[in-house]
Amino acid sequence: MRFLAVNYHHVDDPDQYEYPGIHPVSPVNFEKQLMILGQHFDFVSQEDILAALQGQKDLPLRSCLITFDDGLKCQYEKALPILDKLKIPALFFVTGIPYDDPPQACLVHKIHYLRARMDPDLYYKKCESLYYKITHKRLLLESLDENKVARQYRYDQGREAKLKYWLNYVLDPKTKHQIINTLFQELVKDEANFCREFYLSREMLKEMAKRSLLGLHSFSHLPLKKLDPKVLNQDLEYNIRGLKKVIGDYHFNAISYPYGNTESVSLREANLAERMDLKFGFTMERSFNTSLRSPLLLARIDTNDAPGGKAPCFLIDKNHKITILPNRHFTEKRMMYYQE
Ligand SMILES: [Zn+2]
Repeated sequence: MRFLAVNYHHVDDPDQYEYPGIHPVSPVNFEKQLMILGQHFDFVSQEDILAALQGQKDLPLRSCLITFDDGLKCQYEKALPILDKLKIPALFFVTGIPYDDPPQACLVHKIHYLRARMDPDLYYKKCESLYYKITHKRLLLESLDENKVARQYRYDQGREAKLKYWLNYVLDPKTKHQIINTLFQELVKDEANFCREFYLSREMLKEMAKRSLLGLHSFSHLPLKKLDPKVLNQDLEYNIRGLKKVIGDYHFNAISYPYGNTESVSLREANLAERMDLKFGFTMERSFNTSLRSPLLLARIDTNDAPGGKAPCFLIDKNHKITILPNRHFTEKRMMYYQE
């Protein structure tokens, strides 16, 4: 079997932001990609995967799950109507912090928003000067491993990609919070209002829960592998508890780990998810799943990497024959989390 999971973030008008920072897939391209995927794969739902895991039925030979991370409002407004029209199931992974009291935006979204609304030079200079003000150290991006940066951010170039990498993976979380929150507050005066505009509303969440469309994406959207065990536990518990406060009784079966790379998720997080009675989980390992072995660490690719995306990792012909393209970090068999 070949089970392909494809992930989306923003499905929205790409021209609404002044600077690159948020890269939405337009609703038209979203629909086009679904049509392409539908020629080669049978779309499956959360229920199909659960049934396959319980041995009640097999997944189709070539199956595809459409997923969304981050619980963004545009996913409900722009993507769900298209999915419903085409009768394609999907799964939406939601964070908890925007529904906390007071509501807060995830730091990663603050970064995206700042980059989308601020001239890149100005953004860099402001980060540099705040970093100096806080630590009395100079910001040195030259020392970063270019390959690591390129592997993580294929759609950002040069200094912007390095700055993003440095903020997300190198800088200590406390300083990072200080820098980003300072810049975000300069730009966005009312964070609660920002959350209302940016994330799924409570009503939307309730409706999606009724349709069994929800999964977890952690409470605070931090790289889970870096959290100490107690904080990690708490984070996932808050995620479940916080969302249940909004949607009522709901059994969460699935998780997608924030960022999903080997620096953010490991067997430890997968084991914890399993202990919390979650049944399957997604990394961002660029691969097909050819079995449901290790269901808490499934592979998944970004929309850009899939056929019909900006830079597909593989081609697929009318006989469903697959040709993997070189240098796209895609493997036909699982490599990163275990050897398949
Ligand atoms: Zn995310």
